[in-house]
Amino acid sequence: MQNKNNVVTLFKKIQHLFSDLNHTHITERFHLTEQALWASETSLNAILRYSPALISVKDLNGNVVLASDHFNLMANIDDTGFVGKNVFDVYPKDVAQSMWDIDIATKTNQQNYEVELDLMHKDGSMHTYLIMKFPLRNKENKIFGICTIGTDISERKLAENALREQQSRLNYMAFHDSLTSLPNRSLFYDRIYHGLARSRRSNSKIALILLDIDRFKNINDSLGHDAGDLLLKAFAGRLSEGVRDMDTVARLGGDEFVVVLECLHSIEDIVLVANKLLTNLARPIDINGHDISTTVSMGISIFPDDGMDTDELLKNADVAMYKAKEAGKNNYQFYTKGMNATAVNYLLLENDLRRALEQEQLILHYQPQIDLYTGNLMGVEALVRWQHPVRGLISPAHFIPLAEETGLIVPIGEWVLREACRQQKRWLVAGKYVGKVAVNLSPRQFRQKNFPGKVETILREAQLGPEHLELEITESCAMEHAGETINQLNQLNKMGLYLSIDDFGTGYSSLAYLQRFPIQKLKIDRSFVNDIHDDSNDATIAKTIIGLAHSMKLRVVAEGVETQYQAEWLRVQGCDQAQGFLYAKPMSAKLFDSYFHNGRFCFDGMPAPLDDCKVSA
Ligand code: C2E
Ligand code: MG
Ligand code: MG
Repeated sequence: MQNKNNVVTLFKKIQHLFSDLNHTHITERFHLTEQALWASETSLNAILRYSPALISVKDLNGNVVLASDHFNLMANIDDTGFVGKNVFDVYPKDVAQSMWDIDIATKTNQQNYEVELDLMHKDGSMHTYLIMKFPLRNKENKIFGICTIGTDISERKLAENALREQQSRLNYMAFHDSLTSLPNRSLFYDRIYHGLARSRRSNSKIALILLDIDRFKNINDSLGHDAGDLLLKAFAGRLSEGVRDMDTVARLGGDEFVVVLECLHSIEDIVLVANKLLTNLARPIDINGHDISTTVSMGISIFPDDGMDTDELLKNADVAMYKAKEAGKNNYQFYTKGMNATAVNYLLLENDLRRALEQEQLILHYQPQIDLYTGNLMGVEALVRWQHPVRGLISPAHFIPLAEETGLIVPIGEWVLREACRQQKRWLVAGKYVGKVAVNLSPRQFRQKNFPGKVETILREAQLGPEHLELEITESCAMEHAGETINQLNQLNKMGLYLSIDDFGTGYSSLAYLQRFPIQKLKIDRSFVNDIHDDSNDATIAKTIIGLAHSMKLRVVAEGVETQYQAEWLRVQGCDQAQGFLYAKPMSAKLFDSYFHNGRFCFDGMPAPLDDCKVSA
């Protein structure tokens, strides 16, 4: 019995112990669970409160059951928050609809979705959010809601956009010229490559017009690079205006442009465009208040006649362009098979000219200027020639334009000035008085800022007084930037130099400016002397120039006097001096010296009334 009691007691004890133990366990578990719940709720609250993300959970009806505080930044959510509402309650219809659609898809397809949406903040700023949606499942794996997490990716987007823009800018820059925005050489090659392919298929022609601005270097040197750049830009605009949208205008570099005309059926089409371009480009361009007139030389090659690929077409257009330059600029030339030799010659000449100075191949000839009344030698004009080792004596008319274009005129001009001064000194030392020695200045040389300083140095080196030197600038050079011309001439005049305007009558003089130039002499261009008889137009012009010069108290010299009749006519009109083959051709200093007899120079062919060939005092 006791045993039985003992057993019962033991059992009860065990039962009690057990029940006590069970109770402790359950309480403990409850407590733990409660703690875990509390912890997770606290964490969730912290997350919802402080997360910089849009976090929300919706039930299956689309109603928001919880939402992060970040939603309060949204323009459409008021102080009562997002919880208890659905997307249609707060977002604009289009945004709400796309949110809703994705919610439905998330629910129906039971999968995650990602979408980018632009949402507005209360401060009016637009932000891009990366919205992720995923279904929430209970223990039985049944969907009970949808969780949305939206991250503000605006900054990343901005950076991406900036990068994309930069890439497309780089891309653009790789294929366009930065100054004119025209396609560059690479894009030109690409376009013409495709153009040639189209042409082969359609049996049509392509014309390649290569253009080079005449004397562009002059503009750059005289007006500065900024003005040069403005000119190139304006020029590019004019070029583009002159062609159809389908044609390509590209800048190959420097002042060299190319126009590609596609789908041509006749040469007339090309002539039409080329003429239009010539006219378009010849209109003066206003650069910083200066009206700059430029002209172009164009060379044209045609596919398939003049070449089967881009390089050949370019090369031949280049050849034709040199031909256009040679033909006096401001024109176009079609490539023809016979052209190669001439163009190559021109290029060779350029290379040779670079060496001409070093190898002392330049020489000066001197042409006398005679007083029409007394027959006295009043001065000499120094004229440069190129003693080419293979081609013989080359006239300045042939290489001065090339020297101008290449910039070689500056060192060449300096050499001429130095040599003329040295020769004048030799004559003076030898007691041979030739009057003033006149030196021609190129526009480029004259426009150099330090030009007066250079003249001063050269005179000093030659130990020559300024009264023995005369400088000639052409009328067109003088008038081109008349304001600058006045300054430069004033400086030279103050130094005591004698200044004259050459080739007068060929340019467009403004009398207002002419009066302000501190000059002493006008030289009538020989084209007006050629055909003077009493009722010719040239005679009227020559008379007018003589009258004008005298009214301005200037000496007047007629150039290119070849006949006795011309000399007499000019003398009667009151022209002061003459220069021309009638008296003497330009000659070397040595030959010049051979005309020196008995203390004076005496030239062949002196006009009859001037038989007394005295050297002027
Ligand atoms: P320019 O200064 O007007 O020189 C006169 C030109 O007329 C010279 O040609 C001369 O030989 C030519 N001439 C003189 N009398 C007669 C004549 O009676 N009949 C004909 N038909 N021609 C005559 P050239 O020496 O060939 O020079 C041509 C041009 O080259 C010069 O014209 C001048 O503008 C330029 N030039 C010559 N030397 C220099 C130089 O050292 N520097 C620069 N910048 N230009 C120069
Ligand atoms: Mg001259
Ligand atoms: Mg002249």
